[in-house]
Amino acid sequence: MLIAANFKTNKTRCQTAAYYKEVSDFIAAKNINTEAMIFPPATALDSFEGKISVGAQNAYAVENGAYTGEIGLEQLDEFGIKTILIGHSERRHILGESQELIAEKFHYYKEKGFRIVYCIGEPLEVREESSAALMAYLDDQLEGIDLAYNKLIIAYEPVWAIGSGLTPTEGEVELIHTALRQKIKAPILYGGSVKTANAKELLSLNNVDGALIGSGALNAEDYCMILEIADSLK
Ligand code: PEP
Repeated sequence: MLIAANFKTNKTRCQTAAYYKEVSDFIAAKNINTEAMIFPPATALDSFEGKISVGAQNAYAVENGAYTGEIGLEQLDEFGIKTILIGHSERRHILGESQELIAEKFHYYKEKGFRIVYCIGEPLEVREESSAALMAYLDDQLEGIDLAYNKLIIAYEPVWAIGSGLTPTEGEVELIHTALRQKIKAPILYGGSVKTANAKELLSLNNVDGALIGSGALNAEDYCMILEIADSLK
């Protein structure tokens, strides 16, 4: 089981360090075996020492160069970061990243041996159309992605469930994860309004191997509680 927290554009360097310490102390005190992973903003990346994996929310497919506003491999190497989030719906839909660019990032960071948390998920209008349309949409988001990559982790996150407080029914989540499992052997996380109140139900579903959590994990205490719930399910 893997519980990943995506901080998005939240937390300073100082707040991230405090979060890391609080969660690390909790993991040690409670002997938690579930993997904890956090994605702080780029300004808060650092060489943390402890059991929490730290990943980048984004990086350009380049070692360094003239790409104003972007970070590349060199900035991640400085802190020994070997995990990256690629294809998050906010980067696809707000920042306008195309599938082509996303696949390019995937290949670059795969070549560099990164663990890649690769996000897919449909907007509401696609879900309302039909199950076939939904699965076809997810298939398109997997185009150009090596599903056999041994450091791949998939995060299924319906766009309409992200930050909205809404979630698909447990049956729907299980159905989609089970359909994805037919073609993907990698762990499949669920993401979209996971919080302390619904973590147990969602994490207990077949073919749900963990969660990617935004707002519900911003508070370190809540994140620790979800780690403990996940750990109790093993
Ligand atoms: C996310 O950003 O990946 C996410 C799942 O956000 P939230 O938990 O806030 O819905």
